Amino acid sequence: MSDAKLQSVLWSLSEKYRQLDPLPSSSAPDAGCVKLNTNENPFALPAAVMESAVAALERQYLYPEDGNISLREAAAASYSLSTDQVIAGNGSSELLSLIYKAFLEPGDSVAMLSPGFAYNHKLALLQGARLLEIKCGDSCSLPIHKLLFGPAKEAKFILLANPNNPTGTFVPIGDIESLVAQSDRLIVLDEAYVDFAPDSALRLIDRYSNLLLLRTFSKSYAAAGIRVGFGFGHPEVIGRLRNIQNMFNMNVIGHAVGVSILAHRTAYAENHRHIKCERERVRSALTQLGFSVTPSHTNFLLARVPAGRDGIWWQIRLKQKKILVAVLPDEGLEDRIRVSIGTKQQMDAFLAAVEDILGAETSQPSTV
Ligand SMILES: *Cc1c(COP(=O)(O)O)cnc(C)c1O
Repeated sequence: MSDAKLQSVLWSLSEKYRQLDPLPSSSAPDAGCVKLNTNENPFALPAAVMESAVAALERQYLYPEDGNISLREAAAASYSLSTDQVIAGNGSSELLSLIYKAFLEPGDSVAMLSPGFAYNHKLALLQGARLLEIKCGDSCSLPIHKLLFGPAKEAKFILLANPNNPTGTFVPIGDIESLVAQSDRLIVLDEAYVDFAPDSALRLIDRYSNLLLLRTFSKSYAAAGIRVGFGFGHPEVIGRLRNIQNMFNMNVIGHAVGVSILAHRTAYAENHRHIKCERERVRSALTQLGFSVTPSHTNFLLARVPAGRDGIWWQIRLKQKKILVAVLPDEGLEDRIRVSIGTKQQMDAFLAAVEDILGAETSQPSTV
C-alpha cells in the first residue's frame, strides 16, 4: 500500500484501535534460556494425562465437542458443582475477555485491585471502558470499604486475583466473602494460583450469585500450552457468557487433557509440594543476598532488588546469563523482579547467576 493510502486506512479505523500500537515483529526466540518469566510449571504431565493427549490426536478430523459438555460435566463433578455452573475456556484469559465483552458497554467502568494482572488494561481499552485501579498497599490486603463505597461503586464488575499476581499475596476467604456479601456487583475472582495457596472461595459459589470464579490448568497443572481454563458461577451468569463464546473455542487435545487432569488431580501433590518447598528455599537464599522478598502463596516470588539498581537492570543482566525473569509495568514496582519457581536445577542456575552478578558489582563499584 502507498503511504497515503495506508494513512487513510489507519484513520478510518475506530479511535480505540488507533490507540493500540502495532506490535513489533517478534524478537529472537528464547531457546536455551531458563524461563522464569511467565509462571509456567516445568514438570511433565502425569503419564495417564499424556496418553489421553496422544489418543485425542486420532479424533483430529472431527470438530471438538460442541459446548464442551464432557469437560464441563467432569469439572462439575470434580468441584461439586452442576454443569450449568461451569464454563470451559481456551485458557482462563479467554474467559476474562468474554466477561469484558459480555458485561461492558463503552463508557462503563470496571474496578481492579492494583497492582494486578496487566492484561486487563488492554481488555478495558478494547471495550471502551474505564479501568479504575484501587491500590491495595504493600500488604495487598482487601480494601473492602473502597471497593464498596469509593469510585468503584460505579463499576460494572470488580476484578480480584487471589492469590494476587504480581504480588503473590493471599487474602483470607472471610474477607472475600465479606465483600461479595455486601456488594451488589459481580465480583470476578481469579484463582489462577489457588493450588499453591491455603484456601479457595469455591465453597461460596452456591451461596452468592454475584461471585464468578476463574481457574486455569496453566500454572498448577503444567498445561499452559494446552489452554484449559474454567469459570464457575451462577447458571444465569455462566449461561450468558456461554452464549457469546466462539464456536469450538477449545480443541480436542484440550478437552482430553482437561478431563484427564481432573481425573488425576492427586497425581500433582508432589509437584505442588516441590514448588512450595523450592519457593521457600529461593526466598531465603535471595533474602541472604540482599533482596527483600514478599511472602508468596503462588509459584513465583516478587523480589525487591538490592538498592542502587532497578528491576530492568537485573532483567538485562540475568538475560545475558540466559535466565529470563519478569519486570512489572506497575507504578512503584520499578525496583522488583518477578521470578517463577521451576525445578531445583533451574532455581540453582538462577541463584548462581544472581551471585555472579552481585560478585561483579562489588569488584566493580556502581557508577549509577
Ligand atoms: C497466568 C494467569 C492467568 C492466565 O491463565 P491462562 O489460563 O493461561 O489464560 C490468569 N490470571 C492470572 C492472574 C494469571 O497470572
